[in-house]
Amino acid sequence: MASIQQLTVMGREIGFDPASVRALPLAEERFPDVSSLAIDVSGGCNLRCGYCAESMTLPKRPPMDRELLVRSVERLFEWSDPGAQLSIFFGSGEPLLQPESVKTVGKLARKMARKNSRGLSLFLTTNGTLLNARIIQWLVSDGWEVKVSLDGPREVHDRFRTDGMGRGTYDRIERHVRTLSKKIPERFSTTSVLCQGSDPARIFQEIAGLGVRTLEIVPAAAPPGASFLPGETEIDHYRAFILAYAKRVAKSREMPTITRFQTQLRRVLGIGNRQIACGAGRTLFAVGPEGGLYPCYRFVGLDAFKLGDLHTGLWKDAVQRFTAGCARPSTERQQCGRCWASPLCDGPCFAGAALIGKGSTPPGFCEMIRADSEAALWLADTLRLRKPKKLCGLAGIHLNG
Ligand code: SF4
Ligand code: SF4
Repeated sequence: MASIQQLTVMGREIGFDPASVRALPLAEERFPDVSSLAIDVSGGCNLRCGYCAESMTLPKRPPMDRELLVRSVERLFEWSDPGAQLSIFFGSGEPLLQPESVKTVGKLARKMARKNSRGLSLFLTTNGTLLNARIIQWLVSDGWEVKVSLDGPREVHDRFRTDGMGRGTYDRIERHVRTLSKKIPERFSTTSVLCQGSDPARIFQEIAGLGVRTLEIVPAAAPPGASFLPGETEIDHYRAFILAYAKRVAKSREMPTITRFQTQLRRVLGIGNRQIACGAGRTLFAVGPEGGLYPCYRFVGLDAFKLGDLHTGLWKDAVQRFTAGCARPSTERQQCGRCWASPLCDGPCFAGAALIGKGSTPPGFCEMIRADSEAALWLADTLRLRKPKKLCGLAGIHLNG
């Protein structure tokens, strides 16, 4: 049995018992068990971001036709367990190159959910450059969860997030970020890519200053050696930033939520600990433009990862090969077996490891998770006895009474 680990974080001695938070083994025989669908509606993007992982790893795809879109939604309802909460994601390429398709799918799915008394969430991740008042209006009224990619202040964002002419895009999205932050603060968030030369504290300050209540900061994903990858300096800055953030959260009433940090806080409390990063290939599947099914949007169009199609359904053998191979649990990964944070970490993104990291996590990912884990352990230890209600609130636990 694992023994208690001792860490010193910001001068505080923290005892951490890995056994108390370790995830239960996966019941692999349950899968595939479809409840979420990612739809590659546009097959492409209007920007040419310098660090785009999708353009590095995926083939060219055409936009999806309407008939396939409708069939995708129908299959999600047919194939899922009647009691399951359903989700539909648009996040590959730039979905708003096909705004009418996104809107139509959302409305159709909402209608089917009402008719069949099913819970449904709709998620859109966009670079924000094609947003306008009309699109924002239906995103708000149809209950979408919206995430905009925003890398920080103008000069930081515009270094890599450029259009086909090499022009920065910050000025095209700033007002939409402000509008969405006001209109749907609980359903709106941003995602920022940490690159060489980026300062996480400035990213946070800028985005919080726009009124955003929920954000994430993720490392650029690329093989070792890529010039834009965050290096030691950026990772050190990230660690200092997230520890300072935890300190501020302990003292202040209202701070924007950093989702990856909040996830680590929940893991420290033993909530939602898993051995896999996500449901890709188990509960989540992506539909490609030819109707093929893949583990998630990061695998669309790659024949080696095809797991079925909309006509014949999921191919169980292919699914099993995927879940036993590149989607295996963190307990079966050498790299994770040697990591002190493994009880608090779900393991690597399967796509990042398989397509970019040659089986391991791409640079920066683990260092940021371990920094988040230290900061979360410190915050939980600080608040546990003094302010348990606040700790629950920060971890997203809603107490009755
Ligand atoms: S931080 Fe990296 S090595 Fe450690 S458990 Fe997570 S994915 Fe595995
Ligand atoms: S494999 Fe990676 S990119 Fe795909 S859904 Fe999982 S975490 Fe996201």
